[in-house]
Amino acid sequence: MRQTLQDIAAYKPGKRPAAGQVATRLASNETPFAPLPSVVRAIAEASGDVHRYPDPAATALTDALADFYAVTPEQVSLGCGSVALVEQLLNATVDAGDEVVYGWRSFEAYPVLTRLAAGVGVPVPLRQGHLDLDAMRDAITPRTRLVLLCTPNNPTGPALARTDVVRFLQEVPEDVLVVCDEAYYEFVTDPAAVDGVPLLPDHPNLAVTRTFSKAYGLAGLRVGYCLASPTITAAVRKVTLPFSVNSVAQAAAIASLAARSELAERVATVVAERATVREALLRMGFVIPETQGNFVWLELGESTVEVAEAFEADNVLVRAFAGEGIRVTVTEPGETARLLESAQRVARLLPA
Ligand SMILES: *Cc1c(COP(=O)(O)O)cnc(C)c1O
Repeated sequence: MRQTLQDIAAYKPGKRPAAGQVATRLASNETPFAPLPSVVRAIAEASGDVHRYPDPAATALTDALADFYAVTPEQVSLGCGSVALVEQLLNATVDAGDEVVYGWRSFEAYPVLTRLAAGVGVPVPLRQGHLDLDAMRDAITPRTRLVLLCTPNNPTGPALARTDVVRFLQEVPEDVLVVCDEAYYEFVTDPAAVDGVPLLPDHPNLAVTRTFSKAYGLAGLRVGYCLASPTITAAVRKVTLPFSVNSVAQAAAIASLAARSELAERVATVVAERATVREALLRMGFVIPETQGNFVWLELGESTVEVAEAFEADNVLVRAFAGEGIRVTVTEPGETARLLESAQRVARLLPA
């Protein structure tokens, strides 16, 4: 085995219910809503063709995304979930020993994928749950090839402000690729928050990744995409495993784009719940940064494991990071009620 593997902790996915167990599943930032009927129909139709390889260029989906975002198809690349796009962007830019700057704590896949690409991760501590762009800029060296900006930041919740990202892009050397990982973009409601897409024309070293897994509810089918300059896009496509977005996933993603107004209603439900959940938990004494994703972050320090076990005893599955805190997915009113009922009991464990 490669020596590197000894230094890499395996990716730890969110908890799933045991076989036969019914649980409130708030550990993986999934949508609670079943796929829309039009999407299920597209999946059923596509299933009749699975004896054929998919369109390797995913032409119809690429064109639909280019249309949707008013970019050219040469600016759209696809992957098996947007986590694969992060991997592809790393593989396209990082040689052995090159540095990759990211905030920490942020998406758990960043350090793992950086090491697998033979890069050196440079984690920059958050400031009160926010990415610290000044410190991230100062962390850039001549060896830095890529900077990962997770906005909204998973697991803490805050989104970066557009003005701060624009300034950051002006300060970063042009040969450093800046990636805005916008997996939760559809849940963002703060008008000051960054949307990377309109910044693309002025910044050829910017890439924006998004996904069908979260707001669009296709986590099980694995489709993500990257919007960037034609040069970056060509490089990302070069390192993509052939046929990595399967034909059923391509069809479901196209149908989901067409159903976006129905999906927007579901997003609005989650956004309304987000305010309800955060306010209720703050009243119970939890400490929570502002959030623009479909999740809240409970800062719990040394109480984290005890609190997570108490939620689990109530069959509420959450994502715990020992010594730091717990990420709880926000979903719909029924699950909010179960979460808050459990939280009421759990809050007794909070340090006074
Ligand atoms: C969930 C998530 C992703 C990607 O999810 P995919 O299912 O691979 O599309 C990417 N980045 C962040 C920060 C996420 O939380």
